[in-house]
Amino acid sequence: MQTHNLGYPRIGSDRELKKACESYWAGKISIHDLVKVGKTIRNQNWETQKNLGMDWIPSNDFSFYDHVLDTSLMLGAIPKRYNKILENQSNSELDLYFAMARGVQKDGIDVRAMEMTKWFNTNYHYIVPEFEENQKFSFFSTKIVDEFLEAKNAGINAKPVIIGPVSYLLLGKEVDKSFNKIDLIKNLLPVYIEILNKLKEAGVEWIQFDEPFLVMDLEPKAKEALRYVYNEIDKQFPSIKKMIATYFGSIGDNLELAYSLPVQALHIDCVHGFKQLDGALELAPKEMILSLGVVDGRNIWKNDFDKSLDVIQKAVTKIGEDKIFIAPSCSLIHTPVDLDLETDEKTLTPEIKDWLSFAKQKVEEIATIKALAIGSNDSEILDKKERNSNSIKNRKESVLTHNKEVRQRMEQLQSISDKRISAFSERKKKQLEALQLPLYATTTIGSFPQTKEVRSWRSKNKKGIISDSEYQKLLEEETQRAIRIQEEIGLDVLVHGEFERNDMVEYFGEQLEGITFSKKGWVQSYGSRCVKPPIIFGDVYRPEPMTVEWTSYAQSLTDKPVKGMLTGPVTILQWSFVRDDQPRRDTCYQIALAIRDEVHDLEEAGINLIQIDEPAIREGLPLRKNDWQDYLQWAIKAFRISSCGVKDETQIHTHMCYSEFNDMIQEIADMDADVITIECSRSNMDLLEVFSKFKYPNDIGPGVYDIHSPRVPTQEEMVFLLKKAKESIPVEQLWVNPDCGLKTRGWDETKKALEYMVAAALQMRQEV
Ligand code: GLN
Ligand code: ZN
Repeated sequence: MQTHNLGYPRIGSDRELKKACESYWAGKISIHDLVKVGKTIRNQNWETQKNLGMDWIPSNDFSFYDHVLDTSLMLGAIPKRYNKILENQSNSELDLYFAMARGVQKDGIDVRAMEMTKWFNTNYHYIVPEFEENQKFSFFSTKIVDEFLEAKNAGINAKPVIIGPVSYLLLGKEVDKSFNKIDLIKNLLPVYIEILNKLKEAGVEWIQFDEPFLVMDLEPKAKEALRYVYNEIDKQFPSIKKMIATYFGSIGDNLELAYSLPVQALHIDCVHGFKQLDGALELAPKEMILSLGVVDGRNIWKNDFDKSLDVIQKAVTKIGEDKIFIAPSCSLIHTPVDLDLETDEKTLTPEIKDWLSFAKQKVEEIATIKALAIGSNDSEILDKKERNSNSIKNRKESVLTHNKEVRQRMEQLQSISDKRISAFSERKKKQLEALQLPLYATTTIGSFPQTKEVRSWRSKNKKGIISDSEYQKLLEEETQRAIRIQEEIGLDVLVHGEFERNDMVEYFGEQLEGITFSKKGWVQSYGSRCVKPPIIFGDVYRPEPMTVEWTSYAQSLTDKPVKGMLTGPVTILQWSFVRDDQPRRDTCYQIALAIRDEVHDLEEAGINLIQIDEPAIREGLPLRKNDWQDYLQWAIKAFRISSCGVKDETQIHTHMCYSEFNDMIQEIADMDADVITIECSRSNMDLLEVFSKFKYPNDIGPGVYDIHSPRVPTQEEMVFLLKKAKESIPVEQLWVNPDCGLKTRGWDETKKALEYMVAAALQMRQEV
């Protein structure tokens, strides 16, 4: 029995990599300094894992930006638009790499970045490979070999990690749509062979091929490609031990295929694919090693050793001790680095800290589980076992995780209405009368610029440099300014601006019971951007109103209607570390009840429009289509629980960005929000087609300009888009708004853009 890890966080325990990269981009440190920071992090990571007793330690899991982009550079899949950068002798390989990641706009060069998208169902984002028809590959970046040698020289038993050729192709996109990217496998394989040759020369024993697409629905062509490449690789490298790693779910109907591949080991996710264990053990080929991912690489809860040992015991009985590897369920890049750094007991109480485990602790858990599984009598190991049992027991029995009132309410969930009183057509009449809004009513999505000043007030208030009352006053003044500006611009529905919020989830997380935070629990989101997800550890409820004061304050400043602004239950769930001792669905319903209370109080306070943002509904979709229905059913119900407890006259808005809706339009309609605002401008209103075909009955605000760019759109552009929108959606249903919140923009461009937007709406009204 051996232990191994699939990947370790590369951001550094104090986000050193973020700081170094950003300093390099700003021209403040040299490439030499940056490279040195990378080397230090890698070596520290290896050292840590070695000291904790890991048998096989990953190499090539380090990345300056993203491991998929590393792979593209390794394989020479460099889009032509970067040729100028490639050919310029003064640029290093890293400069080219960052140009692909971030684009360049300097010295007369202006190339855009490659696209970024979500890594399966995680909050990590990768750089999407771009393939041309008959794309050629070449062994371009030697990082994988260099880092293996670096590890070897440091005395590390390294196992290079490489994205498998089929998953690599599936992660990419065809730039002209006239071919199937899987057909590129013939061009790609020789380069993998070349790389494997170099690794063989360097002395590798094990290689980990990540093929996470094996847990998804696969086209026959992709299956065929898998058989083809691994057979070829095995033919050429019979002596290298090859492990195929899958994660984030069950291999399911691809199991037979996975087992037919001529590799020495298969890694399965025993946490997110727990159901697959029995089948996998039953069918395991004689010579195949099974790597059991028993420690959750996606969450921060301590492993329950008893449970893991049960799983391993079962496997030992079925396939034998020497056929087993112990591992985390997936790479640990999805967890924060080191729990030992959480020393502030006010942020994370010792009781809750005792339930947690970050990457470093998870590596230790894996080593301990193995020791226990092979029957170690070492007193230190036995001591660890006992402490683990205590932590698990304490968490199970803690009063912190259970709240009686929440439980009672959950039991009566059936009797809580998740339907509006009247149908939309009925509500719409009443809302029109109450709100007196014109056709093409104008509004924004919620946030206004979070300027340097606003952010500095918050950080000074946190540090105690400015008092609470001073901070409050500054925010009031900023809100007042925002209201005046919106009135001057002539918007129909105003917002308070969200100046008091650090982040749309954190703000609510801080005020809800059952949710806590870490100080250094950073996780890479993309490139140098890290997030610190809230930790949902117990029953969630709202001890007191969260937004009523700010919304009422804003409403008191104007005769125009002010829209209340909340984050929805699915989004709060999706962007947090969620407790694993009850179904996600139940946690989501609890949050929904808390938001419902807030909606109720806003209504009581005289707020007639309330927006509940759900940008994360789509990203919660399970990897397999078969599981979609179940998820969508509870996700939509959660939204309805939060939004449906209001009178007909109260207008509920929701907002979603970066979404496609074609395969979930029925569910979007089932949400029954009176108004939905969506990101639309970059797709030229094409997103509306599906609403039109479906005859979506409620109101829609298609975003008429892209808020991700500082560029101010012209009135004509927006009129053009609105005319296009009018072709698919009846004017009575249309709202006019930007794509998303404006927090990342400056005031100057915001004011101009909104003035043109209101002018565009006026022009449209005249033409009705
Ligand atoms: N109300 C939020 C804002 O305007 C919505 C953000 C989002 O959709 N991501 O900032
Ligand atoms: Zn948005």
